[in-house]
Amino acid sequence: MENGPPVFDKPKVELHVHLDGSIKPETILQIGKKRKIGLPADTVEGLLQQVSYNEPLCLTEFLAKFSLYMPAIAGDREAVKRIAYEFVEMKAKEGVIYVEVRYSPHLLANCKVNPIPWGQKKGDLTPDEVVNLVNQGLKAGEEAFNIKARSILCCMRHMPSWSPEVVELCKKYRNDSVVAIDLAGDELINAETYSEHRRAYEEAERCGIHRTVHAGEAGPPQVIKEAIHILKAERIGHGYHVLEDDSLYKQLLKQNMHFEVCPWSSYLTGACKNSFADHPVVRFMKDGANYSLNTDDPLIFNSTIHTDYKIAKDSMGFTEQEFQRVNINAAKSSFLPEQEKKELLSKLYSAYGILKSTEF
Ligand SMILES: [Zn+2]
Repeated sequence: MENGPPVFDKPKVELHVHLDGSIKPETILQIGKKRKIGLPADTVEGLLQQVSYNEPLCLTEFLAKFSLYMPAIAGDREAVKRIAYEFVEMKAKEGVIYVEVRYSPHLLANCKVNPIPWGQKKGDLTPDEVVNLVNQGLKAGEEAFNIKARSILCCMRHMPSWSPEVVELCKKYRNDSVVAIDLAGDELINAETYSEHRRAYEEAERCGIHRTVHAGEAGPPQVIKEAIHILKAERIGHGYHVLEDDSLYKQLLKQNMHFEVCPWSSYLTGACKNSFADHPVVRFMKDGANYSLNTDDPLIFNSTIHTDYKIAKDSMGFTEQEFQRVNINAAKSSFLPEQEKKELLSKLYSAYGILKSTEF
């Protein structure tokens, strides 16, 4: 999608990107072939034509994209480890030096998960082992490509029965790549009604597990309120529709709440229907809000982090200085322990030529 050199070719931090939406098409084809699982095409171009898109689709059509290729990946040990490793490689090439990648362990499993996703036959890969394999892939990637990668485990709004295990996995693997819990899926499914989500988040808070929630992407400001007050979210995934509630927006600005913004994604999912010049992140920028720029699902949006930065520069008026501020805020709002956060920040300050005394 992008042409020419990257608009911000400096170290970056990415906080909102889905592992299952960031798989290399070559890998899908190879694993599909190995496992004899049918795919909609047998070339990279053919697969991308089916899986990715560049004009807005509705949520159902967007979600249908995953079911085109996830049957090839889910339930396969080699595939799960490999996509994590290749994800780190992909991000290193984009100049990302710290990334938090998220996924639902249940959606990659084929055992001890009900229902078994993607029409798979029952196998022997459990959600617990999925997390273990992803951790191994991330760690191997960190060593090979010299960047830092951590993970966030997702609860799915339509599957409250999975949430108790998600928080237990966060606890089990908290010293091993996993830094937080997330809630993803259709926002119109109210989390308050499903006490399993709420209880999982309460347990996360009790145990000091960090919390982010997809809220206000397509849904109304009420979903953001619920994320903050009921689920005790420390960051908001997307959050664009906060602008429809002025007092909530002012309160979150004051609290320095972090919004994980995904510009190209927000266009393609129809979350933001205005032109890029009138995108909520333009307001966030003008108001000095705390937010980051992220890809969300680069396979499906046929994008890289440079796509989002290019949109921000060309269509939203972002400056080099704002890109620096965005990444510094992302580092400050990352779910790393304080000492590691300081180390990450000092890497950014030195790469940007900023003296700490003049930091944003
Ligand atoms: Zn997302």
